[in-house]
Amino acid sequence: MYLFKRRDDLERHLSSARKEGKRIGFVPTMGALHQGHLSLIAAAKENSDLVVCSIFVNPTQFNDPADFEKYPITIDQDVQLLAAAGNDVLFLPTVQEMYPNGLTPDMHYDFGELESVLEGAHRPGHFQGVGQVVHKLLGLVNPDKLFMGQKDFQQCLIINRLIKLLDLKVELVICPTLRETDGLAMSSRNLRLNPTERQNALHISRALTYIKDHIGSSPLNELSQKGMSQLKDHGFDVDYLEMVSILPDGNIAFPSVTGEEPLYAVVAARENSSGVRLIDNMQVN
Ligand code: AMP
Repeated sequence: MYLFKRRDDLERHLSSARKEGKRIGFVPTMGALHQGHLSLIAAAKENSDLVVCSIFVNPTQFNDPADFEKYPITIDQDVQLLAAAGNDVLFLPTVQEMYPNGLTPDMHYDFGELESVLEGAHRPGHFQGVGQVVHKLLGLVNPDKLFMGQKDFQQCLIINRLIKLLDLKVELVICPTLRETDGLAMSSRNLRLNPTERQNALHISRALTYIKDHIGSSPLNELSQKGMSQLKDHGFDVDYLEMVSILPDGNIAFPSVTGEEPLYAVVAARENSSGVRLIDNMQVN
């Protein structure tokens, strides 16, 4: 596996690979890798000739400085996992390398309503930061396919919109959420939970499963209220638990009844004793 810390070296390597006709698959991450990330690498390997993974904890997408400071970093282990998974190129830039002109954004992305609901409403500026870093990374890697996880439901919609806004040719491939055997969605932030908190965190996927199991038997708003009170009973601070679907224009709808289209329960909640904010989602129909 090649490891590049400098964008010039990465671009040189990739431009010669592209001249050889190689199709590039790209998996951007913030590291502290787990099997969920590795499933994206596996999907990229299956669908590309050369797989690039980036590890960069992007400061501009953290609206909460404490979350940024506490974000887990396990680089040595990440490098080993990626090499064992058959990843071809790892891009590991510094903040200076990614933001040579400072962190102030040089443009504003018009994500429309997508940016004012759910994560957008609770993490002001988050999606602008995501847009900023993914825009830069796509410019450097110039992949044929971009692999992202359904775990970050709204992020997938934002990146889809970014690709349209910038008129990029890249194809976004959305991969399913990997879970621990007990149902907890894999997440780098799970590393910040002690065993008791980790056990408590299970209530998030349980609330979503409860909704899925009862869909059709109660009105949607009752189900989301029920899921929310289950979480509150276990000491969670719930930012939102909503039933949503995706409109043809890529915006999020909040239907009050189940229709034909896929319906998702989406949740963000802070595990009380750790203070760790976790997100999850599940298709419930
Ligand atoms: P992150 O390192 O959290 O920024 O995530 C990097 C990529 O991995 C994103 O596209 C995530 O959606 C994806 N990802 C994170 N957790 C999971 C998971 N449990 N299953 C599948 N993909 C995931």
